[in-house]
Amino acid sequence: MVKPYQSDSDEIKGMLVRYLHQKKENGQRYIDLYAGGRDAAKAKRSEGISTLEKLRESMGDCQKCRILAKNRSNLVFGDGSPNADLVFVGEAPGEEEDKQGIPFVGRAGQLLTKIVSAMGFDRSDVYIMNVLKCRPPANRDPLPDEVENCNPFFLKQLEILDPKVIVALGKHASQTLLDTKIPISKLRGTFYDYHGIPLMPTFHPSYLLRNPYGKREVWKDMQEVMRLLNELK
Ligand code: URA
Repeated sequence: MVKPYQSDSDEIKGMLVRYLHQKKENGQRYIDLYAGGRDAAKAKRSEGISTLEKLRESMGDCQKCRILAKNRSNLVFGDGSPNADLVFVGEAPGEEEDKQGIPFVGRAGQLLTKIVSAMGFDRSDVYIMNVLKCRPPANRDPLPDEVENCNPFFLKQLEILDPKVIVALGKHASQTLLDTKIPISKLRGTFYDYHGIPLMPTFHPSYLLRNPYGKREVWKDMQEVMRLLNELK
């Protein structure tokens, strides 16, 4: 499991920044990626895929999750700059995303776009993707075997993107990427090491639509992200 770095400790944050700079200088930003047996097997399967286009091509008309494949209008791969320093990872496409084939374009997506602008970016400066590439029927939670099926794709997608910072939106993305069951309310606000990339879990924009008071926490988390991006420049 990846290790937390306590965001309230400047010393630890400083260590994280120095560690990432050192790795960058040594040209090894992915020291632990695919170190585990399970991940290694999956990485082997996607060897040779070096661009997002090739990865998308390799997914074709994916039929791994029969129900999702049968019900989808579009496979929703990702959107934004392939060279983005900052990547947002959500849970799964909703109705509007399924219709358009673009992640985060519904109500939650509009709020995410506002958050991205408030951080001083355009949507085209960042990259937005989901853990699951197909819409679960009636927006139900993704099932463990669906996440497992999509796992090699989003692992590879993040490896190709190789951003400076990842923001995991909500419980599902955060718990999946960090391989933990810790509640999002406890995870958020702290940077974790995702295979050598700092990852900030925060509340999902859909949660913010129902609980606007959570916006203050999300903004705090995004300020930490902006600070770290600045330090890593
Ligand atoms: N919620 C998500 O997690 N992803 C989307 O693309 C849209 C809504």
